[in-house]
Amino acid sequence: MTDEEKLNLIKQRFPEIISRINREKDTNYENITPREKLFFADVFELVLKKDKALFTELWKNMSTCSEQNIARNKEIEKTFNLKQHLINTRQQLCGKDDTFSADTTQEEIQYRPNMENLYNTMRDLSSEKTPEYIRQAQNILTCLTSAKGKTNRALKEALADTDIEFRIISGSQMDGKCQYRKKNPADRKKTLTICLTEGCFNQHQQALGMVISHELGHFIDARGRPNNYQGSLPQSQEFFADTLGYNMARNAGFDIEHYKSETRKMNIPFLNRRMDNLQRLQNNDKSREIMLNNRQRQNT
Ligand SMILES: [Zn+2]
Repeated sequence: MTDEEKLNLIKQRFPEIISRINREKDTNYENITPREKLFFADVFELVLKKDKALFTELWKNMSTCSEQNIARNKEIEKTFNLKQHLINTRQQLCGKDDTFSADTTQEEIQYRPNMENLYNTMRDLSSEKTPEYIRQAQNILTCLTSAKGKTNRALKEALADTDIEFRIISGSQMDGKCQYRKKNPADRKKTLTICLTEGCFNQHQQALGMVISHELGHFIDARGRPNNYQGSLPQSQEFFADTLGYNMARNAGFDIEHYKSETRKMNIPFLNRRMDNLQRLQNNDKSREIMLNNRQRQNT
């Protein structure tokens, strides 16, 4: 079949495709089968290439919450406060931070289904090197969970009732993603899946500890949320994951300089602000260390 013929078929079946999407988005697309995912991936990629207006319509349908679902999330918020969850968890594990609290309080909560369960551009790496990469990632996880420090201990506890798996995906850039969900509705435990690009094991090896800890920061956040809650604070969540990740990586002795410099190279204002935050945390740690040293010297 040519692309044109396929596109015509998609146009004919478009209402059917949209109604399927609408039926599944309230559950975060968690019930979409792997086979259907392949079908949707084909549809998205072809429509994106051939018909931008149709793609916009498709995307809008995929990414917006239904009114009914927003109401369901607001109901959950009667007993769960996302902003307080982030502010309190950060304070408990890494200390109080007025900047973070103020920014989080100001950010507006967005409601959107998790589209990554339906479609993402990540492709599993098929390479004989994959098992070796996974072994390296597991070693780093062991370093992180066995290091001293509140955040590392909290991570170890959180992982005790979670299955964890690493997936290596194609790409030379430095990138990670995580998902935390029941892989099958009948599973007793949820599974944490951490995806890492191949680049993290080559030119960005030095950042691997921080990339993994950042994702684990998202995991600690996700673990404290009610099931099926779809509220998000896109900016605060990243600052949160950076801060917890930095704490865990620092406690385990991992470098974060490469992570910072590589992220800054993209020159995206939001990413620069995130790296400024990491720098600020490092500076705070350094001043504290100097202060402690001085005090020790005075005492001896
Ligand atoms: Zn992130």
